[in-house]
This record gives sequence, C-alpha cells and structure tokens, in this order.
Amino acid sequence: MLKILNRIIGITGKYKTRIRASYITSFFKGIMMKAPLIICFIAISLFMENRMDEAKCLYLGLAMILSVVLEAILEHLTNILQSAAGYMVFADLRLKLGDHLRKLPMGYFTEGNIGKISSVLATDMAFIEENCMGVLSELVSFIISQGIMVAMMFVMDIRMGALAVLVVIVFIIIGNLMLRMSLKHSVIKQEASESLTEEVLDFAEGIAIIKSYNMLGDKSQRLSNEFEKSCKESIDFEMAYGPWSRALYLAFGIGTAAMLAMAAFLYNAGEISNSYMVGMALFLFDMFVAIKSYYAQMARLTVTDASLDRIEEVFEAKELADVGKRALDGVMEETEIEYDNVSFGYTEKDVLRNVSFKVNHGEMTALVGPSGGGKSTIASLLARFWDIKDGRILVDGQDVREVSLGSLMDRISMVFQRVYLFQDTIYNNIAIGRPDATREEVVEAAKKARCYDFIMELPDGFDTVIGEGGASLSGGEKQRISIARCILKDAPIVILDEATASVDADNERAIQEAISELCRNKTLLVIAHRLKTIRDADRILVINDGKIVESGDHTQLMEMDGMYAHMVALQS
Ligand code: ADP
Repeated sequence: MLKILNRIIGITGKYKTRIRASYITSFFKGIMMKAPLIICFIAISLFMENRMDEAKCLYLGLAMILSVVLEAILEHLTNILQSAAGYMVFADLRLKLGDHLRKLPMGYFTEGNIGKISSVLATDMAFIEENCMGVLSELVSFIISQGIMVAMMFVMDIRMGALAVLVVIVFIIIGNLMLRMSLKHSVIKQEASESLTEEVLDFAEGIAIIKSYNMLGDKSQRLSNEFEKSCKESIDFEMAYGPWSRALYLAFGIGTAAMLAMAAFLYNAGEISNSYMVGMALFLFDMFVAIKSYYAQMARLTVTDASLDRIEEVFEAKELADVGKRALDGVMEETEIEYDNVSFGYTEKDVLRNVSFKVNHGEMTALVGPSGGGKSTIASLLARFWDIKDGRILVDGQDVREVSLGSLMDRISMVFQRVYLFQDTIYNNIAIGRPDATREEVVEAAKKARCYDFIMELPDGFDTVIGEGGASLSGGEKQRISIARCILKDAPIVILDEATASVDADNERAIQEAISELCRNKTLLVIAHRLKTIRDADRILVINDGKIVESGDHTQLMEMDGMYAHMVALQS
C-alpha cells in the first residue's frame, strides 16, 4: 500500500503538498464517519442505565449534528485537495510527456512504440486520473475507520477486541493474496491492450493498402485474434480475481457472525451488560465494512502499479541531449552545411560510412543513387532525427549536437514525399509553418505554393477542415499545402525529398513551380529520383551503399562516365 501511494505521490510534482494535506483531512473524516455510531452507542447506554437527562440528550444531539456537518466539510476539502489536484497533475504530466516525445529520436517512433504511447496517453493516464486520484485518501479513512471499530470492541471487552483483530488479520491475508494475483494479471491485461491498440492503428492506417491487396480477411483475422486475446485476458483476470473477492465476502460474513456469537456468549455468561449488547448490535454490520472496501479499492490500485510502470517506461526513453544547449547563432544569409566524415547506423550495422561533403550558402546539392543507398538517411541526419556515430555535421560551422533542437529546426524546412496534414483547417495546416504569421502572409504563401485556386474552390476556402491525414485532398494538393507551410516558414535550409513521381502532369507542373518559389535563395539538399530535375544542381553526389561514389556537377559526372552517366542513360 505504502509503495503504491509513494509511487503515485512521486508523480504528483508540485501538487505533492496538496495531496498529502488531503490525507490529513481524510484522517479526520475517517474519525467523523464513525462518530455518529459512537454517539448512538453512548445515548443507548445512557437510556438503558436510566442516566439520560435533557441536557445530555441535547448535547448528544448537537454532537451528532456537528459530526455529520464536519464529515461533509472534510469530505469536501478532501475532494478539492485531491481529486482536483489529480486532474491538474495529469494535465501537467501529459504536457511533460508531449515535451519528452518531441525530444526523442525518430527511431523511437518507428520501433513499434506508437501503440505504447497511445495506451499510456489514452488508457493508463486516464485510468489513474479518473479512478485512483479520488480513492487515495479514502484508503486513509478506511484504515482509520477500521481502527476505531476494533478499538471500540476492546472498550467493550478484551475478548471481543481480540476476535476483531483476528478477523482483520484474516482479511489482510486474503486481501494481500488477492492483490498479488491482481497485480500479476493486470500486467498481462495491459500488455494485451497495448498490442490491441497497435494492431488497430496498423489496420486503420493501412486500410487503403489492405483493401487494394485484398488482405481484408487476413488483417481482420489478426485484428479479431487481438480482440479475442484481449477479451480472454480480461475474462482470465475476472476468473482469477472472482474467488478471492468471494473469499473476502465470506470472511466478512463469517467474521461478523463470529463477533455476534462471541457477544451473545459473553452476554449469556453475564460478562457484558445489556447496553454493551445493544451497542454491539449497532456496530455489528459496520464492523468490517471499512477493511472490505479498502481491499476492493486496493485491487483497482494494483492496475495503477502496472500503469505507472508503463508511464515511466515511456519517460525513460533516452532523449536526444538538448538541455542547456545554446541556440544556433550566426548570420542567416551565410548558411552553409558540412558533413565531416559522418558514419551512422540505425542498428549496429553502418548504413553510412565516412560521408564528407559541403553545401555552400545558396547552393543546391543533389543526392542521387540506387534505392537503399542512404540518401534519405543523410538528409534526416541534418535535422538530427538520429544522432550520428562518428564525425560531425555542421550548420554554419556549429555541430548540430551542440545547439538546441528548436533553433536547428528553425533553420530547416523539409518537404517529404509522404505528406501529413492535420485534421484541422487548411489555414491552420499552413500556419504551422510560422504560427505568428498574419492571415495575409498565409494567403500569400498559399499563392506562391500554387494552392490558392483549389483552396478557394473548397466549400469554406481556407477555413475548410480537412480529414485526418488530409484524406479529402489529392496527393498533389496535399504536397502543395506542405510546400506552402515551408514557404511561410522561410527557413534558410530546405531539404527536399523530390516528390513528384506519383502525381499527374498538371499537379507535377504546379508542384515544380511551388518548389521553385520555396527554393529561391535557399541552401538546398535535394534527394532526387528523376535526374532531369537536378541537372542544374551546383553539385551532385552519387550515393551507393552508404558512401559517396561520385561527386561533381552534371557535366563533370557525364564526362566521368560512371554510375551517374549510366543512370542518366537509363532514365532517358
Ligand atoms: P535511400 O534514401 O537511398 O533509398 P535510405 O537512407 O532510406 O536509402 O536507407 C538506407 C539504408 O538504411 C537501407 O538499408 C534501409 O533499409 C535502412 N533504413 C532506412 N531507414 C531505416 C530505419 N528507420 N530503421 C532501420 N533501417 C533503416
């Protein structure tokens, strides 16, 4: 119990004191909850012993009202301190998680962790926020209430007290066994839920491919299997949990009956008075309610333990070092890029080996070569999606690892082949490029990116909301919106994954015009698939098997009559 409470307290950050204060209010609430019973007991004793008078009756009545009012006030205070703080804790934690995810290398997202992130955000955090924060301090009141009941038994008769302690011990043994089992199953259950989320995301994202390759049956089968697995884990959990929960009920019934039997026995033997016997009847059905409720709530908290493990796991993923880094400085107009003996591998195996080249300010460098050679990898390393193994990548003479990620990303615009648009208005999708831009600037960027005309034909123009992933626009239109974003951002370096291969002729022309606008006066790194578009590049690097195998402008490379000349011949 203390371990889980401490772990939960551990994530409460600046709200720690509030949560701790709620334990104190809850402690007194626990006492107040039992106060009416005790007052009743005193009143009955006084009546039965003929010692009740008007004044005592009045005082007891007032005490009863006071205890009920105090309990309500303490309950209210506990809620304010604890439940409200719970929501604030998780609002902060989600922001912290967002910040953390931003600093993780891209590899983290491609290694099958998307399901985990979704589960942590949608299931684990929501579960703790809604179910646990509210019950933390209740646990304190349950313990206090149970303590008071046992103490009352000792007041009546030491044997009654001893029996109550015995029943509580039985509860503790059964309850702890139940918690251990619940903990084991909750980990398995959560894992099944994570892999189900992964499968659902995979199915939803790949639905077009799945349909076009007629894989609906196969994929649905996998999805059904995951649902069945998740369902089975839930049933297993209930099956394993059920007997223990019944055992607790049984202990409750037998314990209560034993208390009554002992009281009757002692009463018959003349060892306890009439008033105590009546008091006993009064307490009887409330005798072990607190400890029973305590374990019911604790079983929910064991799921919390597993959820906290998973939340911590995501937080433990190693961020790209970015703390305390200075901003990239230097004169914007002088932007140049240098790769100095760069080696890199996604795994142990090197994908790039000793790559060195320089892109001068305002120049265009094209990366060409066979698929899988390492072109995209070279480009993504500039934006520090991953950290390199050896060598240095310099922007304006500064190592990208030595400057803050934010300032580096301010210098770079990237146009990818695969465009992602958010489920938001077209306006906001473009404005992401520079959130402080005016409406005029956004419209101007759209015009330069040749988007304006088709945007104005949409029902709400710039305020049209596009579907998730940009579903209601054509591939070329999405591409142009992503270029408008970059034009608005106006970063001095542009990385372009040449993306016109899969669009029609009209779109291709419009995209080329948009790209020309974007690239004006920029330092360019272009991943080229079609060689005719990069003929005018200042420098062409032929990348094969992670190495630069040829380097020069178009004429030089043609004269070399090597791999580039061969590729040009093939394409023409
Ligand atoms: P290109 O852009 O020239 O087609 P890439 O840079 O995409 O080449 O790939 C270079 C090598 O790195 C390939 O062997 C590819 O399989 C591997 N690779 C690319 N991306 C990843 C990744 N995220 N994780 C592991 N390996 C990758």
